[in-house]
Amino acid sequence: MPGPRNRTKNRPRNHTGNGSASNLSVVSQSASTEAFANEVDDVNGWTEIVKFLCEYFRLPDLNRRSGLKRIHANFSEIYRKLNNAYTSHAGKEKIMGGIVAIWAKMCVDAVLRNRLVREGLIEKIMPLMDMRSTRVVGLETLATVTHHSGLEVHIDIAKHTPTLLRLMEEFPDNARINELAVSTISHAVGSAISADVYNRALVQSLDVPNVLRQVTNAMRKPTASVMLVEHGMSLVTAATRHVPEDIKALPPLVSLMAASLRVNDMSARCSAVVTFIRINHNGSEEENRHFDPQMLIKAVERRFPGHLVDVMCDYGATQCETWLLAKTAGEYQKAMMKVAQDRDLHALGNTLAELIVRTEFSVSDGGFQAYDDRGRPEMIDVGLPFKMWLDALPLCAKALRNARGATSLDLDKADILDIKFFIIRSRIPEAIAHAEKAIKRNPHVAYFYYAIGLGANQAQALRAVKKGLKAKQTTPFVKYYMLWRAIVSAGNMGVTGLAMAKAGDQEYSEGVAFLMSALDDAEEFFKIAPPDARHMSVVVNWYIVLTFAIRGHELSEDLRELEPALKRLDISRQITEHIGFPYKKTQMRLSREMMMRMWPKALKDYASTITHYSKLYEEAAHGPKEERSVTNAEDNLAAWLDDLHLEDGEEGRDMHCVHPRINSNSVELYRCSYCRNPSAALKKCSGCAKARYCDGVCQKSHWSDHKATCKTTDS
Ligand SMILES: [Zn+2]
Ligand SMILES: [Zn+2]
Ligand SMILES: [Zn+2]
Repeated sequence: MPGPRNRTKNRPRNHTGNGSASNLSVVSQSASTEAFANEVDDVNGWTEIVKFLCEYFRLPDLNRRSGLKRIHANFSEIYRKLNNAYTSHAGKEKIMGGIVAIWAKMCVDAVLRNRLVREGLIEKIMPLMDMRSTRVVGLETLATVTHHSGLEVHIDIAKHTPTLLRLMEEFPDNARINELAVSTISHAVGSAISADVYNRALVQSLDVPNVLRQVTNAMRKPTASVMLVEHGMSLVTAATRHVPEDIKALPPLVSLMAASLRVNDMSARCSAVVTFIRINHNGSEEENRHFDPQMLIKAVERRFPGHLVDVMCDYGATQCETWLLAKTAGEYQKAMMKVAQDRDLHALGNTLAELIVRTEFSVSDGGFQAYDDRGRPEMIDVGLPFKMWLDALPLCAKALRNARGATSLDLDKADILDIKFFIIRSRIPEAIAHAEKAIKRNPHVAYFYYAIGLGANQAQALRAVKKGLKAKQTTPFVKYYMLWRAIVSAGNMGVTGLAMAKAGDQEYSEGVAFLMSALDDAEEFFKIAPPDARHMSVVVNWYIVLTFAIRGHELSEDLRELEPALKRLDISRQITEHIGFPYKKTQMRLSREMMMRMWPKALKDYASTITHYSKLYEEAAHGPKEERSVTNAEDNLAAWLDDLHLEDGEEGRDMHCVHPRINSNSVELYRCSYCRNPSAALKKCSGCAKARYCDGVCQKSHWSDHKATCKTTDS
């Protein structure tokens, strides 16, 4: 947008300000005011106008932190001067625009920003929107203030959304106006609708459905810039928090999100995936929490349909969950009958420890019974130190520990028994505490990590099971159970993290790392888990959703790459139904179904948008490049607003939110080099500063592999 036109000097002058007053000092001020206005009129281009004004008002260097500090020290006086000039030249576009731009520049400093906002800065910016030459300056200023402000100011700015939407309607093809309006709306309205405390009245007053509709229209335009698209995406993500129904009610937007799954950019796909997951929360059902092993045993007795038996035989019937469970239940009974005879708790401990790591429902409560004379079962005392079978576990553990010449293996078994006892009694914190102690004694037993993985703390669980997956003493059941836990924890943490973070933030990269970790583990799960694994359908749903996020751009239009996973899902559903468990409409299932349902049509309807976005992101990835749609080379006010040399080493925030692109390499920084645990809190190898680890244990375990590359890395 060019600066204001240079008017001829010899036109009749309009008296402004207090010119009509008789007071002498005011008259002289009026004269100087008039001279000042004429001088500004002679300056061309916004950068020059701002420079002129800074000199005229003798302002310190606004590009330097030290200059801003000096403004801070003399704020009242400087503000009064600028404000007088602004108010006494109403309608003078160059003066109003230039002064507002100076204020915007001051807004990079939080203290100055708060003072300016309190003085009514936003109200002073808005009149610029309706003057031809100041419109873009006004929008740039508002965008700058928005990018530097917090919730309170955002709410103030959000109230002016109707003006911004009107500009978007009036100038549908002006890329700069649209990207500035959308980025301002994205931050201001986005903050208001995703605030921790949901303010219903405020959100309703913002008319989110209309905002989303107009932003969607702007995002679909072939002129949409990467800045506009990313800010539009952020707004949609923000809306998923409190008003997901507003997104669901807007088919073109949901369709655009489905199309974004195909775009050649990880953050675009991840944002779309997060949107699908979060808009499917309402109306979804909880996963089956309670699991009755008796139903499984009955299902085996009823016999599975032939084609399901075939699938289970292909895997290895004796390794399938159903079969193992039935077999283990029988062996458990037998072991108890045996101990009633021989009273050998040591031998019982050996057997139980083996059963416990074989399948999830290995031991259950029961007791020794006999039938009374009326044929009713009653508990009998067979002379053992326990009555209820589960109470045998700690006693067996003790027997193993106290045996003469107890080996390390005996101690492992004893710990497994103690831990299982706590688990089955739902005393999870005690199970975790015991497992942590056991790991200190022997870090190679996967079951100990499995136990920590049962905890409610997802980060702790994930960290533990990732280490457990590397443990040498393991069984298929313990392994695929830990994989399931790793997938769900990392998936949930990734989605939550991405929804809260802004693209480009460290938290955002960490969120993507979580999703990649979950996808890796889902692939591993398919390799080792039996077709009747209890968590199969959960994993398949996560797998497909995560595949869209990480590899959506590589998927075929007919999604044939997902067929093997869908086949697993179908088998799992049939097995679940045969057993008699309900096939729940979980959030992940609904999300997966919605994405797959919308995909074919979205690809057709939005073919040109997908190409356009992919090109935008491709260009952005090969930056640095001017990403703003500057329409006139002369107008580099935006660059001036962006420019700040901070002498104190403080990091300046990029006020235009042009984000670094995320790819698998940048995400790699958030994965442990040994156990692949995703985390932002990893420690670097001091040798090469490249490898990253959860802790010294992971580093030590990795050293035999890493030492070769660590030493060859020049640093
Ligand atoms: Zn931004
Ligand atoms: Zn690690
Ligand atoms: Zn190293």
